Amino acid sequence: MNNRIYLCLAHMSGQEQKYIKEAFDTNWVVPLGPNVNGFEEDLKQFVESGTDGNIMDWATLQGKEVVALSAGTAAVHLSLIALGVQAGDEVICQSFTFCASCNPIKYLGATPVFVDSEPETWNMDPTLLEEAIKGRMEKTGRKPKAIVVVYLYGMPAKIDDIRAIAQKYDIPLVEDAAEGFGSRYKGRVCGTFGEYGVLSFNGNKMITTSGGGALICPDKEAKQNVMFYATQARESYPYYQHEQIGYNYRMSNICAGIGRGQMTVLDAHINHHKKLAALYAQLFAEIPGITFHSNPSAEIDSNYWLNTITLAPELHVKGEEKAYTTRIQGAVGGAAGVTHSASSTHTDCEPNNNVEAMRIALDVAGIESRPLWKPMHLQPVYKGCPSYVNGVSESLFKVGLCLPSGPYVSEEDATHIVTVIKQQIK
Ligand SMILES: *Cc1c(COP(=O)(O)O)cnc(C)c1O
Repeated sequence: MNNRIYLCLAHMSGQEQKYIKEAFDTNWVVPLGPNVNGFEEDLKQFVESGTDGNIMDWATLQGKEVVALSAGTAAVHLSLIALGVQAGDEVICQSFTFCASCNPIKYLGATPVFVDSEPETWNMDPTLLEEAIKGRMEKTGRKPKAIVVVYLYGMPAKIDDIRAIAQKYDIPLVEDAAEGFGSRYKGRVCGTFGEYGVLSFNGNKMITTSGGGALICPDKEAKQNVMFYATQARESYPYYQHEQIGYNYRMSNICAGIGRGQMTVLDAHINHHKKLAALYAQLFAEIPGITFHSNPSAEIDSNYWLNTITLAPELHVKGEEKAYTTRIQGAVGGAAGVTHSASSTHTDCEPNNNVEAMRIALDVAGIESRPLWKPMHLQPVYKGCPSYVNGVSESLFKVGLCLPSGPYVSEEDATHIVTVIKQQIK
């Protein structure tokens, strides 16, 4: 690759090829096999571990199981199926997230109900969650079928408060920890608080299997059920007999080999993300008008998957009067896949001009950055879905920017990035 500094890139440990070679040598080039089992065992041990690496003795953790899948999105989808979500049901979902948290609700013909964030962690606001539950029960006479809470940019949500409300109304909780692998709340790994926990091993996440995900399940029986749906829902007859609709969502033994290699550097990756965060926090503390998003309290321990800043609306950035005058070709950051070309330079809700000017200046300097995720309740595709909002995610979207993070970003890079940012301020 060239000298550009990217948001977050996969970084190999060197161990991956050993596991992949083993898969070829033993002819396990299929979506089951020793690497899949080994990777699931590694994941299970990690999610049960305390900060000192020892297995924690929380009663609720005992018996948790992990299923390796083809994507984090598949994990969200299967968690909802396991919780019995059906067409016509409502599912509460954090609005401030990536679309993969809520698209599977639509795959099932159910309706997402979006809940806004609190300003400290940027994740689901517990007070608003309760309002949403009461509001839906009043309106429809039925309880939402599940709650999907997200650990945005790796930052843990106020999960104790959210879980208390979920338990009060007896609604199961799914934690979308796709961005929060290795983050902790009160020392406990995110993804282990709810009924199900979603992990992603896409190329840009904390660790990668080239593409993949996992679902943390409450027990062995739940794992068996998830594996049944992940492998085409086959009944045990000598011939193919199907009584349910299944999916082809299992992780391959080759991808799991990459995952096993990646598990050997997981702790090092998390430490590097945190080290960069501490450096960014220190450097931005000197710059008026820019706020670095840090752990808001001692019980919250982010993996800092992506480091994020907010720019005060009154902060003036060079070139801000020309922001949004040229159309973007493809997706910002050259995301994989096909993007529709934009029909205009503006939408009805977009980041402030100073944020866009800063993004362009960084881009010109060879530094990839990206606005915060646009809340789902503001997305045209989700127009008309019920939403309970307080303005927090919308205002954050207008002022925020994600900065390069992860193992390929050195401390010199981070210092350089902050210098470039400083130079752009008028
Ligand atoms: C990346 C991501 C997912 C989906 O994971 P994939 O492995 O890419 O399918 C789900 N939710 C959030 C919040 C994500 O960032």
